[in-house]
Amino acid sequence: MPRRIVLARSAGQCFGVKRACNIALAAAQGDGSVVMLGDIVHSEHVIRRIAEAGVRVVDSLADVPPGATLIVRAHGAAPEVFAEARRRGLRIVDATCPLVHEIHRMARTMAAAGYRLVVIGDHGHDEVVGIAGQADGAVVIARPEEVAERLPDRLRRVGVVVQSTQDIDNVRRILAELVPRVHELRYVDTICGPTKVHQREIRELPAQVDVMVVVGSFKSANTCRLTEISRAVNPRTHQVTDAAGLDPAWFAGATTVGVTAGASTPDEIIAAVVAALETLPG
Ligand code: SF4
Repeated sequence: MPRRIVLARSAGQCFGVKRACNIALAAAQGDGSVVMLGDIVHSEHVIRRIAEAGVRVVDSLADVPPGATLIVRAHGAAPEVFAEARRRGLRIVDATCPLVHEIHRMARTMAAAGYRLVVIGDHGHDEVVGIAGQADGAVVIARPEEVAERLPDRLRRVGVVVQSTQDIDNVRRILAELVPRVHELRYVDTICGPTKVHQREIRELPAQVDVMVVVGSFKSANTCRLTEISRAVNPRTHQVTDAAGLDPAWFAGATTVGVTAGASTPDEIIAAVVAALETLPG
């Protein structure tokens, strides 16, 4: 029987990542050295394409030559990174996703209104570091059990924003821990629209297929989260970075296969995975 492949409508790169890649590729056309602080997105394929266009990735602003162009990635950066880049005389090309800029604006507004900022997000993730950098004394919370540990005293006013790609269930659990500890809690739902569509589909599609394939880098928090959610619904969930990672043994007896991809995965990689699945022996 031919196998049916169902591709999630939301699979792949969101507009913020596509926009950042286009900005980086356009910046690479100009004269002089073009650098980026860290990888543009957590996708090996996108990183290769950007590097081939001539953009050099550095780990620290200290490695950037004076007068170079610095591309700020879709994840954004903390204000001190911008300040330091200006101090070094760099030309800044800001490819921060507009939705991440909106989270920064919310974080600053709440801090200015006297709320202690809490960022629900993954520790050390670049986007989270950039958001937390918008307010002095911001507290990052990744898991519900961290609430008591990081906010041991009852607080008067707390403002909460969320990393754009967080899982809503995790956010709900953290909020439930915060409520009894805070006199006045202000929560702004900053999970972005593309992530919400992804999260809705990833709860529905795995239940409708025999096997689920999630395409994306193991370094991408967003892709790994999709895999985790999918696996909870359908244990026959596998993550691959590209078509070469597919193992025919995973699909034994499967008549329907669902495919989705993280927000950093390029369309051509997803298309290649779908094409490979169509030709795998049944
Ligand atoms: S995941 Fe959302 S916030 Fe992040 S780059 Fe994409 S659209 Fe922007």
